[in-house]
Amino acid sequence: MKIVVLKFGGTSVGSTNRIKRVSKIIISYIKKKYKVIVATSAMSGVTNELVRKSKEISNDFLAEEYDVLVSSGEQMSCSLIAGRLNHLGYKSRSWLGWQIPILTTGNHSASRIKSIYKKNIIKYLKSGGIPIVAGFQGINSHSRITTIGRGGTDASAIMLARFFKAQKCIIYTDVDGVYTTDPNSIKKAKKIKVISYDEMLEMASLGSKVMQPHSIQDARLNRIDINVKSSFKNLPGTIITKRKNILSDKIIRGVSFTKNDAKVTLIGVKDKPGVAASIFEPIYKNSINVDMVVQNISSNGKETDLTFTIKNEDLFKTQKLLKKNKKINFRKLIVDSKVSKVSIVGVGMITTPGVTYRMFNALAKKNINIIVISTSEIKISVLVNRKDLNNAVKVLHKEFNLEK
Ligand code: ADP
Ligand code: ASP
Ligand code: MG
Repeated sequence: MKIVVLKFGGTSVGSTNRIKRVSKIIISYIKKKYKVIVATSAMSGVTNELVRKSKEISNDFLAEEYDVLVSSGEQMSCSLIAGRLNHLGYKSRSWLGWQIPILTTGNHSASRIKSIYKKNIIKYLKSGGIPIVAGFQGINSHSRITTIGRGGTDASAIMLARFFKAQKCIIYTDVDGVYTTDPNSIKKAKKIKVISYDEMLEMASLGSKVMQPHSIQDARLNRIDINVKSSFKNLPGTIITKRKNILSDKIIRGVSFTKNDAKVTLIGVKDKPGVAASIFEPIYKNSINVDMVVQNISSNGKETDLTFTIKNEDLFKTQKLLKKNKKINFRKLIVDSKVSKVSIVGVGMITTPGVTYRMFNALAKKNINIIVISTSEIKISVLVNRKDLNNAVKVLHKEFNLEK
């Protein structure tokens, strides 16, 4: 069987008119003799609205119930797509995670897909049907509904492609591919024709939300090539594939950024073994993700300052946890909720010296102050004041010739 998995994101199914358009795309593959499996997101805004409602009910909404609630948006869109295909004379039905079933492991709201039961869908495909699968959801070993993280329908599509051995996995979204930076923020962003899993994973993790990071991990692990395309314009998109398939002279592939970071500094922390662990223990236990961490070298061997970054939404809780932490002492707590992280990503930096210098120098020339730095093999991130963010992205985009 020649199978294709088509994923449609929230904006692509954002209205009934858009669902009509998406149905035409699905039919175009049927006409090319593909067996089509569709994975769909909720209509845009619906999941956010559900999250908001859960917060109105309780700021401690039980994770099990949260997943039942937030996964319901996909139920609506998958039945609307199936309904439209039926209307046009095609055999199609919706499939919720538990009906297939899609089995997941891990915590509620951050589960991962472990396996997908194939028999019923294969039978349906063979009978000429078009299954429309609700993305973002599954069930766990206790038969409870789970979700796989915001933006998770990308991962649903990739795992469907893996388990059904699809020839193609196409992510239809509201931009016509992966760009050198967010095309909705920076006009000079350029579409990338081919990008490696590693670079896409870094970009996605560093804020380029066009793909969900976990979905790229799943694709890399299972060697699934992904095609990212627009559901609005019929244009060639971006291929995400393994490094070996790519020939490129670009040192840097893209510039990613996050807007909603916050910085926390503890002044005058005791400089002795175990202190950092005591600081971060309650933070980690409250599922708060710590991103960049720097500790100043102690000048007197007794005290030091420690700075770390978190998401803005976690700032209030983090401050509370630090203040009531009896295991640590510090003289002062300073927070800054108006910082952003800018990162350059590219496998080319492994073999090219001087990338760090070029990045810092380009920022310095524009008078942009670097607050914190962190690096990995294929990325360099800097924390800057939010007011400098746009300029920083622009100057780095230009410095590394991404406009061409
Ligand atoms: P979907 O609802 O289809 O899953 P998302 O909103 O999750 O779509 O992702 C698409 C958005 O990602 C685009 O509208 C764009 O603003 C944003 N984006 C951020 N960085 C990039 C990038 N480097 N390339 C393309 N889009 C990007
Ligand atoms: N509807 C979910 C979300 O908004 C999943 C997705 O769109 O991929 O996060
Ligand atoms: Mg998305």
